[in-house]
Amino acid sequence: MGMYDEILVPCPKCGELYPAQSKSGPCELQTFELGEAPEGAIVDVNRHAPFGCERCGTIFEVAFDPLRTIEVPYRPRRNQLFDGEDGYQVGTPQTEGIEN
Ligand SMILES: [Zn+2]
Repeated sequence: MGMYDEILVPCPKCGELYPAQSKSGPCELQTFELGEAPEGAIVDVNRHAPFGCERCGTIFEVAFDPLRTIEVPYRPRRNQLFDGEDGYQVGTPQTEGIEN
């Protein structure tokens, strides 16, 4: 019943820690720092992403490889959880110079 672990994810802008719930790890209601969470729990850290920082309102989630948080434009997406930054290029179309 509703067991999960919490991973403290720092806001990329102000550093406020956001408790992200993960259900893929031990699920013993433990709290981990982002860098210390077991890999089993980390893979699900974006379960409820994007997160909204309660202090400054920045919308963000965890980028993998390397582990850090990134600011993301707000839009619901459920199918790109592990794509990292590449999934969120913001309004910058590919510039010219693509082969001839
Ligand atoms: Zn913040």
